[in-house]
Amino acid sequence: MKKIIVWFRRDLRLHDHEALFNAAEQGLILPVFIWPNNSERHEHTKSTASNWWLHHSLLSLKQELAKYDIPLIIRKGSIESELKKLIHEVKADAVFYNECADPMFQPKANINELLLSLNVEVATFNDNLLYPSGHILNKQHQPYKIFTSYWKRAIHEIVALPLPVPKLKPIKCNINSVMIKELHLLTFTNWHHKFNDIWEPGEQNAIKRWHYFLENILEEYNHGRDYPSASATARISPYLAWGNISIKAIWHSLYNNIGNENRLNSSMDEFARQLIWRDFAYDQLIHFPDLIKKPLRRNFDSFPWIDDEDAFQLWTRGKTGYPLVDAGMRELWNTGYIHNRVRMIVASFLVKHLLIPWTKGSNWLENTLVDYDVANNALGWQWTTGCGIDAAPYFRIFNPIAQGQRFDPDGSYVRKWVPELKNLPNKYIHCPWKAPNQILANAAVELGKNYPFPIVDHNAARKRALDAYNQIKGKA
Ligand SMILES: Cc1cc2nc3c(=O)[nH]c(=O)nc-3n(C[C@H](O)[C@H](O)[C@H](O)COP(=O)(O)OP(=O)(O)OC[C@H]3O[C@@H](n4cnc5c(N)ncnc54)[C@H](O)[C@@H]3O)c2cc1C
Repeated sequence: MKKIIVWFRRDLRLHDHEALFNAAEQGLILPVFIWPNNSERHEHTKSTASNWWLHHSLLSLKQELAKYDIPLIIRKGSIESELKKLIHEVKADAVFYNECADPMFQPKANINELLLSLNVEVATFNDNLLYPSGHILNKQHQPYKIFTSYWKRAIHEIVALPLPVPKLKPIKCNINSVMIKELHLLTFTNWHHKFNDIWEPGEQNAIKRWHYFLENILEEYNHGRDYPSASATARISPYLAWGNISIKAIWHSLYNNIGNENRLNSSMDEFARQLIWRDFAYDQLIHFPDLIKKPLRRNFDSFPWIDDEDAFQLWTRGKTGYPLVDAGMRELWNTGYIHNRVRMIVASFLVKHLLIPWTKGSNWLENTLVDYDVANNALGWQWTTGCGIDAAPYFRIFNPIAQGQRFDPDGSYVRKWVPELKNLPNKYIHCPWKAPNQILANAAVELGKNYPFPIVDHNAARKRALDAYNQIKGKA
């Protein structure tokens, strides 16, 4: 029988895994994960929240494979040389893997050419997205630039049915594997310890969370998804980021969900639309690889950013004096996650109220989000900044006070994450500096002492942002 190496990256699961399924149908398998510790990003961001998730996802994958008496072989080093060594050590006939857009897992060499030069068969599969990457094109065979047009076209495409866990037969061999703890994914700080009480990474937990959402929360999604204290979203993003769950399996179980009530149907459609945003983000990354680091609207190259390190630090710590922004940044620090509406507000505050470059904010989220996803994060920042191809117009500047009053009307979200304000009445919870002294005293709030004054005045910051934008407006 053929001996096939299955190379895992951000697809750490057994169900609906195209490379694994096809390999298992054709031969004996050797599941392999290579931690590319020669990559630049790895060196700089060893103790990220996302690496905490990776650590636990690897433990879970190892456990799932152990049920079939199959070891997970883990190596660290250059992807090219580790793959070469493994092929040699097990005398492999083939390497099967799923596509992965994360640059951290891209070897410098063309991996398929390298494998073919070693006389090894290669098979690649597209299983991270609903639709094969780069497949949705407009009538001129060009990539879509506007999400709504992309979505209207994509929704008519058929999503492939998910594959079951195949019957797995291992390549019998005795080769080296490093231990998961030797990858040092949890080193440097103890900051990640609190995630243990909040999240349960891994394939079985992903499936459990997904079914909980389907049965108990989905119905409220359409109405509740914009309210950060409503817990009305799936919180499935970290599982998707490391492939603990298959996007196609999610899609099909969403639409197999019984219920014809309009309320449920509209929630299903709204949820499906968000899943398509994820595909759109990858589509943009494939067609415009600059998405991660450079503004896609090139006039933003000369945007007059202010690289104010002090203001940046206050933003990261949740000490800007704007309660909703501070609540979001503290939710992030304490849980590795921020609600989507609040992500837009904190990002907008950084790039528009503070004029700090969006790449600084995106790097901070890359380090602190458990669901860090290269395409979704870049798209989110380019959209919010207004420098993406499909983006919120720059002049639409989120007002953090009005957003708070609308989406956190009773201040529950702010009270949870900014407890020093918890006794303020609703009227002032999003603008404590407007509260009369007696009300502040009754709520034990001492502005400038236990909670900061706003670091910028909203109206002045808005005007400054629009002036800055006017400087680049007409430029190509
Ligand atoms: C500045 C900024 C940065 C972001 N960074 C990331 C990131 O690093 N990783 C990440 O997964 N998402 C990111 N997002 C998108 C979005 O905020 C999260 O996907 C969402 O909050 C995850 O929570 P959920 O699973 O409960 O979402 P739900 O509302 O339940 O949505 C279900 C799934 O749909 C997808 N989805 C939802 N909204 C979006 C969106 N706007 N863009 C792309 N896909 C979406 C996600 O895979 C999500 O898990 C970012 C958004 C912004 C504005």
